[in-house]
Amino acid sequence: MAVRLDDLPLRDDLRGLTPYGAPQATVPVALNVNENTHPVPEAVADDILDGLAHALREINRYPDREFTVLREGFAEYLGHGLTREQIWAANGSNEVLQHLLQAFAGPGRTAFGFAPTYSMYPLLTRATGASYVAGTREADFTLDASDAAQQIDSADPDVVFLCAPNNPTGTPLRLDVIEAVYEASRGMVIVDEAYQEFAPRDERSALTLLPGRERLVVSRTMSKAFAFAGARVGYLAADPAVIDALRLVRLPYHMSALTQAAASAALRHAPAMLSMVDDIVSQRDRISATLSALGYEPHVSWTNFVCFGGVDDPAATWQGLYDRGILIRDVGLPHSLRVTAGTESESTAFLDALASLRA
Ligand SMILES: *Cc1c(COP(=O)(O)O)cnc(C)c1O
Repeated sequence: MAVRLDDLPLRDDLRGLTPYGAPQATVPVALNVNENTHPVPEAVADDILDGLAHALREINRYPDREFTVLREGFAEYLGHGLTREQIWAANGSNEVLQHLLQAFAGPGRTAFGFAPTYSMYPLLTRATGASYVAGTREADFTLDASDAAQQIDSADPDVVFLCAPNNPTGTPLRLDVIEAVYEASRGMVIVDEAYQEFAPRDERSALTLLPGRERLVVSRTMSKAFAFAGARVGYLAADPAVIDALRLVRLPYHMSALTQAAASAALRHAPAMLSMVDDIVSQRDRISATLSALGYEPHVSWTNFVCFGGVDDPAATWQGLYDRGILIRDVGLPHSLRVTAGTESESTAFLDALASLRA
């Protein structure tokens, strides 16, 4: 008989948990995990290959443990006067968040997020042995500064997650909310800016709040705007003391030489890598407008996806789209679904299929 999890001497606090499991089905139009569906430009791919070839010649050696060149690249890309001492990176921002939780959460401690938000926060938290507390949002998924501060005050968490803009709803987060939450907390405040590049250009990033706030962390990823999800590269900016804390928990040489080389090459081509962002934003806005015209209720989005309400039977609609070769996401919100903005033809395929289901 097959061995079951219950047969193993598994940690008690992991019993009954379910792993992250967005479907990875092979379909013509996959718009379910907010990837950038545009391929890496040919010229950039060539440069990345050169970087990989170079790194391969020294692959017998351990990589630069401090991934210095890559951190310099991120500091330059982020701007705001940041230096490499304020930068950390890991294999996806999920690992960056894991490092933060390993250093600042763990057994007996608490992490907090305002639900609905990124589904990985509770999973990552519990895997470090900490407990997770879910706060609440306004009906339109925004956060009010004084209400958010009050929730933090009563929960008194060691780590706060602020997803800005928020996944799965797309909701922007005002900087005054971040300031209020920071003031109300004694713990680390992590602003997850995974989708920041899709926000309006003139909007300020939480990076502008870093000076004088040593418990504030701003995390980013190359998985979304940079079209680099398969490479697994995430990073953060914070006080150099925070970086010292993360060195205590990372595995030695956690960034492979190949990852460092590929990410550094991609960063040198940041403008080309990000050239699809404007197109994705215009597809996102077209999707929202068309959803409204079809009678759905799209939520305001500053991301590369649209969360929409007004779906009578989300499971049936999801299945109907899937049967037409289009994969989107049922994020578990009542009468709602979430779709990633793809290329123009992918977005059209989604909208046409949805309209045909509605007919
Ligand atoms: C996609 C996403 C990430 C990125 O994860 P990676 O591990 O960098 O691929 C982080 N936070 C949120 C909210 C996301 O939606």
